[in-house]
Amino acid sequence: MDRLSDIGVIKDILSRHGFTFSKSLGQNFLVNPSVCPRIAEMGNAGKGFGIIEIGTGIGVLTNELAKRADKVCAIEIDKRLMPVLEETLAEYDNVKIINEDVLKVDLKKLIEDEFSGLEVAVCANLPYYITSPIIMALLEQRLPIKSVTVMVQKEAAQRLCAKLGTRDVGAVTVAVRYYCEPKVLFNVSRGSFMPAPNVDSCVIRLDIKETTPEGVTDEAFFFKTVRAAFSQRRKTLVNSVSSGLGVDKAVVIKACEQAGLPSTIRPEQLLMEQFTAFSEELRKLI
Ligand code: SAM
Repeated sequence: MDRLSDIGVIKDILSRHGFTFSKSLGQNFLVNPSVCPRIAEMGNAGKGFGIIEIGTGIGVLTNELAKRADKVCAIEIDKRLMPVLEETLAEYDNVKIINEDVLKVDLKKLIEDEFSGLEVAVCANLPYYITSPIIMALLEQRLPIKSVTVMVQKEAAQRLCAKLGTRDVGAVTVAVRYYCEPKVLFNVSRGSFMPAPNVDSCVIRLDIKETTPEGVTDEAFFFKTVRAAFSQRRKTLVNSVSSGLGVDKAVVIKACEQAGLPSTIRPEQLLMEQFTAFSEELRKLI
């Protein structure tokens, strides 16, 4: 649909459909016409690509993706938006809308069923209340995707793209650095949304790496350890992992020693090879 990101057109569509925003679903819709084309262009939406979109809203980004990519599968949880999308995406025959919670969709199967012969990328203006669970789900399933280009809150962008060993690091940062090369693309002001959120946003791209760090024999255990390490902010690695995994403190201290780490180290101070060495030593001890 032409001029879909024009605020007048959006207001008209929403009022004709009697749509009211749901705060709990993170519904802040883009009303700045310059943002969606940039996300689509920088997010690999092009010939030979199938795109997974998460959270369509009224379809402003979906339109830009459908114009450029071979196929778009867009997942939207809110069933009230289905009649809206029927109208705003009417001209495209390469879009499939999936009315489900993204965290319950079998994305591997979706890719196999819908994107045969295509490269796949994810593009989205994410619902902010589940940014980390969505990113973790996309990465840990080891989906055959090339990139994840998402708009997130500025603070979340800092965490997702932080360098290991710095204070912004969290469990999701380790997952990002394990699987991807993250890149900050551009900032988006709060005034670009309706309703305007209380924070500014940022578009980032995570390029999936072909290889993952060496030395991890059990990925599930590695990520269990990483999650435990960051489960209690400001605690030492030893204390967090001991209580998070229910492992005796003396055992965790021994794993630290064997990985060449001081027992007073904090999780945000560890580099990737130190995380992998520590989790391997711990795995051998328990
Ligand atoms: N892409 C649209 C835009 O840029 O205007 C909407 C973005 S809005 C920030 C997030 C969208 O995600 C909303 O439409 C919301 O209903 C949807 N959403 C929220 N939770 C979801 C979930 N668990 N699964 C799928 N979609 C979800």
